[in-house]
Amino acid sequence: MESGLSARDRVGVQDFLLLDNYTSEAAFIENLRRRYKENLIYTYIGSVLVSVNPYRELEIYSKQHMERYRGVNFYEISPHIYALADNSYRAVRTERKDQCILISGESGAGKTEASKKVLQYYTTMCPTRNNTQSIRERLLQSTPVLEAFGNAKTLRNDNSSRFGKYMDVQFDYKGAPIGGHILNYLLEKSRVVHQNHGERNFHIFYQLLESGDGALLKRLGLDRTNPQQYHYLVKGNCPRVSSISDKNSWKVVSKAFTVIGFNEEEVEELLKVVASVLHLGNTQFGEDEYGETHLTTEMPIKYVSELLGVEGSYLSEALTHKKIVAKGEEMIGPLSLEQAVSARDALAKAIYGRTFTWLVQKINQSLAFQDEVYYTSKCSSVIGLLDIYGFEVFQNNSFEQFCINYCNEKLQQLFIELTLKSEQEEYEAEGIGWETVEYFNNKIICDLVEEKFKGIIAILDEECLRPGDACDLTFLEKLEDRLGGHAHFVTHKLANGKIRKAVGREEFRLLHYAGEVNYNINGFLDKNNDLLYRNLKEVMCQSSNQIMKECFQTDELTDQRRPETAATQFKLSLAKLMDILMSKQPSYIRCIKPNDAKQPGRFEEVLVRHQVKYLGLMENLRVRRAGFAYRRSFEAFLQRYKPLCPDTWPNWQGKLSDGVSTLVKHLDYKAEEYKLGRSKIFIRFPKTLFLTEDALEL
Ligand code: ATP
Ligand code: MG
Repeated sequence: MESGLSARDRVGVQDFLLLDNYTSEAAFIENLRRRYKENLIYTYIGSVLVSVNPYRELEIYSKQHMERYRGVNFYEISPHIYALADNSYRAVRTERKDQCILISGESGAGKTEASKKVLQYYTTMCPTRNNTQSIRERLLQSTPVLEAFGNAKTLRNDNSSRFGKYMDVQFDYKGAPIGGHILNYLLEKSRVVHQNHGERNFHIFYQLLESGDGALLKRLGLDRTNPQQYHYLVKGNCPRVSSISDKNSWKVVSKAFTVIGFNEEEVEELLKVVASVLHLGNTQFGEDEYGETHLTTEMPIKYVSELLGVEGSYLSEALTHKKIVAKGEEMIGPLSLEQAVSARDALAKAIYGRTFTWLVQKINQSLAFQDEVYYTSKCSSVIGLLDIYGFEVFQNNSFEQFCINYCNEKLQQLFIELTLKSEQEEYEAEGIGWETVEYFNNKIICDLVEEKFKGIIAILDEECLRPGDACDLTFLEKLEDRLGGHAHFVTHKLANGKIRKAVGREEFRLLHYAGEVNYNINGFLDKNNDLLYRNLKEVMCQSSNQIMKECFQTDELTDQRRPETAATQFKLSLAKLMDILMSKQPSYIRCIKPNDAKQPGRFEEVLVRHQVKYLGLMENLRVRRAGFAYRRSFEAFLQRYKPLCPDTWPNWQGKLSDGVSTLVKHLDYKAEEYKLGRSKIFIRFPKTLFLTEDALEL
């Protein structure tokens, strides 16, 4: 070999289970680095796929590549996302078992791209039923629409998903995709009204302004020549991004609308909502000499009322006054300037957030399999794809990070349960003794957050409901009071009365399974309440815009119950998600971002090490290695290694297990090196398999 290195030295091992020094984080990272240098972005930990973002287009996603991976055993060719996709698909077809593919990793690591590759694999490689062609198209086209409304440029990723997404792809008994369903989680609505420096609002705003045709923009009252005039778009001071073509995306999105089945009127209604948010952002307020708040701009409200079909004066009043019910009587009270601004922003967020949910429902109608009878009798199984925010630690962490990291705790919990459970089940099914594995069970942290009456969410809700002096600080005090002694909860107060400098006075720290995070409590109550003043709701309920009509309904006004808080809603939707995932066989894709500069070829070790830790990869490897490093079905094992033994070559005629027995005896495997189960051979050490592989090459 030219370099004097063996192939394994040069490109590393394709499965971390084969690492000699499997407890060494350094060896793990070195293996990733070697492979990344060779553009080998995929590596396995058993059946888990680790993927490192190449930040360049690799020639590994063609139809030919897809074909190479069809029906091939996991270990026979180099690791690939198609191998994982195919593996899940085969389980659906042959075992009729529902599958799910869980994709995790931090922002920019490649989760959404990975989910698109999986979807492309299914829509390209699976057989078609008579009318499933259109379903394939719709499945694919749902992505650009949701990305336009739910993704944005952030500092970390030019196309960052600002919502969590779980998508079921439904297959019939012949393995043809026949439908789909999407669940969305916690859209980052605050982005509608505010963006940090260097970030943008959701893509759709820029796409519409840049490329909507002249007549359309005129109808929407928008002016392309001066996009800087829209307050909601300029907070991040980042109107253009070199990697983003709003023009092209607009074309893609427009076509996608048609494929999904939106008619022209529906698209127009939707764009009216989008435009109304921009106009709303331009409404300004002032104070008169009596301290009363009033609108200082006329045009924006005129546009909003026209576009949404609401009474202008009614809307203006609702933006500057609030309705209070006291002693059974309704009274109107003025809002302060600050309150008016926040009422306006709350309305913009509500309009956009609800429209996003409406959009998901609309897409779901289009993806729903039409033939109910066929569906219930013949539908075989589903493969669920989860593309959800990874663990987040910023300089300043708020309510959003709290929710996101809680979600990751839940997923880790699921991972522990499912991985250990499936290991155990496999050993049992194969008649091999189960060996207990030590691991950190993060249930204690999940409980800390979500436990009824006692957890952080319960305490937060309690403060949100409490009239009087409840505020973010009283929330923190309550947390300290009730959770002060918890092993995973810390504030600036030390038990001995001294001050812990590492945690601010307005912060609490959680010791997550992946590391420590300080959360700043400012805004927790408001964000959790997510309130929209009643009179604004009333205005919206009168809207003649078809979408707003569906988003704001009068029963919300008559319903006496308080709506669930944001955190509780999230908790409930996560619990449902866990049930869905628990009922399926999981596969995992763990995505890693190699550098912060979004550049190809740069592998920054410190950054990667953090992610290896947050993703729990070392623990994952340890658990998988605790028993047997490797397992293969008798059939696959014989097929691959039969040339090594004259008795099994060219074909073994007897029972498969006897063939494997004969083969390993001939290869001189020692008793402690392997065990034969009912249908699989279990190999304890990677070395054993290496030597066998090497023998094959001789
Ligand atoms: P977020 O949590 O912010 O949504 P993400 O994990 O979904 O992040 P992606 O949007 O999938 O990240 O990836 C970020 C960018 O990295 C992509 O826009 C693309 O440029 C590049 N990228 C990711 N995966 C690949 C890949 N397999 N091949 C080429 N480029 C990729
Ligand atoms: Mg994404």
